Amino acid sequence: MDLELLNRTLSEIGEPHYRNRQVWAWLARGADSYGAMSDLPAALRARLAEQVPLSTLVLEREERARDGTVKALLRTAERHAVESVLMRYVDGRRSLCISSQSGCPLTCTFCATGRMRFAHNLTRDEIVDQALHFRRMGPVDHAVFMGMGEPMLNLDAVLSACELLPALGITSRRTAISTVGWIPGIERLTASGVPVRLALSLHAPEDALRSELMPVNERYPLDDVLAACRAHWAATRRRVFIEYVMLAGVNDRYEQALALARLLSPREAFKVNLIPYNPTDSPYEGSSRQAIAAFRSVIEGMGVRVTVRLTRGRDIAAACGQLAATRARA
Ligand code: SAH
Repeated sequence: MDLELLNRTLSEIGEPHYRNRQVWAWLARGADSYGAMSDLPAALRARLAEQVPLSTLVLEREERARDGTVKALLRTAERHAVESVLMRYVDGRRSLCISSQSGCPLTCTFCATGRMRFAHNLTRDEIVDQALHFRRMGPVDHAVFMGMGEPMLNLDAVLSACELLPALGITSRRTAISTVGWIPGIERLTASGVPVRLALSLHAPEDALRSELMPVNERYPLDDVLAACRAHWAATRRRVFIEYVMLAGVNDRYEQALALARLLSPREAFKVNLIPYNPTDSPYEGSSRQAIAAFRSVIEGMGVRVTVRLTRGRDIAAACGQLAATRARA
């Protein structure tokens, strides 16, 4: 919801200030209409319904994967496409994958969003409305800024959204911001003191290969990015998650596992999350399960914590790196 518009409308009508908080509290608990806001006078509900849309985003389509993952394609008022994903896990966890931009200006070669034109930095309210959309379907408890876009290029809106998410049940400690390694953003996040998790998309243990996969590495090379991550850990004592997408014959060799483990010192500052590659129309193929397992045990053997990411929603192109609003561009 456009919270400024709500504010303005309520004061124009001459309503007391606490009405703002009432409306927000209903939204944060998943209300799907003004009609549901039973402690507001009926006339006020009717007027707000006319003047303040419940969301800044309009749902265009929704898809459900066999594993229960839901992907929503939403549109901003200017018709920019935004995709967001709800992941349900067997332990009951419900995690949101949120977009920070429509499209992405970076051009990582393996990512579908990177091949889409960059369109728009989402506002705080457009970010929060993605979460509210899924909150209306039930409780939510985790969020990752791993949808479309680079959160560090829209950090003010992302951090403002993080201030509102706890009202929905998503505390900052259960929120993660993932970056390609945009150093000024990492430094600002560290300085902000907001206790969200930092995740770094690393993907290659040396500069030449990393620059090939992620052209942004030319601007912010590996050593400098890792130094910013170490500083983040030193200042916050929150471990940085290292994302590493497994590409067959590209970054999944034995020596590359060794090189990766050597980069990650001190050990306790990092945790590696190996990501099975999700098909996009890029030239890459994902590493086999055996190759991922072998890579994992090399890193583990060197004392680095490592997990393999569960793949969710691949049958509806809702998995990591597949968000591109393919059928939405028209
Ligand atoms: N721009 C930020 C936020 C997006 S996060 C970042 O890059 O970190 C999306 C994550 O999915 C990133 O780690 C990204 O590298 C990874 N990813 C991109 N394409 C993928 C694909 N096809 N398969 C698996 N993971 C992919």
